[in-house]
Amino acid sequence: KKDASHGRLCFYSQEMESVYTSRRKRYIQLKNAIAKHLVVPLYQPIICAKTGHLQAVEALMRIKDENGNMIPPSEFITLAEETELIIPLGELMINLVFDQQIRWLNQGLHIRVCINISPIQFLDPSFLPFILSVMDQKAINPNMVELELTESLMLENLTQIKSDMDRLRKLGTSISIDDFGTGYSCLSYLRDLPVDSLKIDKSFVAQLNIDNPDEVLVKTISTLAQSMKLSSIAEGVESQFQAQRLQELGVPLLQGYYFSKPVTADQIQTRYLI
Ligand code: C2E
Ligand code: CA
Ligand code: CA
Ligand code: CA
Repeated sequence: KKDASHGRLCFYSQEMESVYTSRRKRYIQLKNAIAKHLVVPLYQPIICAKTGHLQAVEALMRIKDENGNMIPPSEFITLAEETELIIPLGELMINLVFDQQIRWLNQGLHIRVCINISPIQFLDPSFLPFILSVMDQKAINPNMVELELTESLMLENLTQIKSDMDRLRKLGTSISIDDFGTGYSCLSYLRDLPVDSLKIDKSFVAQLNIDNPDEVLVKTISTLAQSMKLSSIAEGVESQFQAQRLQELGVPLLQGYYFSKPVTADQIQTRYLI
């Protein structure tokens, strides 16, 4: 009996240890990715619903492991936020995306980029000076940049957030609210902050199912955006049916596997350089 309980305790602690070890491994991998610049942005097209033209691309972070495999954000963003490694990772990402934007420009491709910014990164006092100086140094047109922020940010000090957003907006950089409607925050921030567009979360788009479509949330967000003179972008568009319905519901911009999965910078170039 004693043995059994000992065995169970032992099993439990081994499990704890393996959680700890894999976290530790990820942490080391993140540090290594930052030191060796093993961050790779992929890009997903954002399409104008009316014309089908490319409106912008969203940059999505991947980390390369020692075998060259791409690790998706679901495996590292939470840990990176908890350890604040999201700040150097995010800075690396911004540098890479701006460099790519310049390379595209030199090829004759004018592509707007949308960059995801973690609340941890946005709230860090180094963020605003960092992004302003990088845009300046690399001669990036701030009009060609959009920052995607999540609603969880709006639970923080709105005065500071507003002043940072105002600085960016004055230069021409736009702000969109990512995963709109999933964040449990009070909608009044939309009145107070200089937001340009709402990204309709893919969980709502998924409810536009051809057999039994539930449109109420998509319709509500689209109407809210229109009445506040904001743009809106539907993410996670996977079918022609969804694309069609979203356009009918007045959502001007669409993004999802139906148009393209996230691809490399080169693939963007071959596809859109005509
Ligand atoms: P997100 O910003 O909501 O990005 C959309 C996610 O949906 C991406 O996953 C994208 O690949 C995926 N997706 C695109 N189209 C479809 C579709 O039609 N169907 C489905 N089911 N999924 C689709 P990904 O690339 O794995 O990124 C996951 C999340 O990681 C992002 O969600 C974002 O919150 C975060 N993330 C990605 N890159 C960065 C970054 O550079 N910085 C920060 N802070 N977060 C990032
Ligand atoms: Ca996003
Ligand atoms: Ca999103
Ligand atoms: Ca999302």
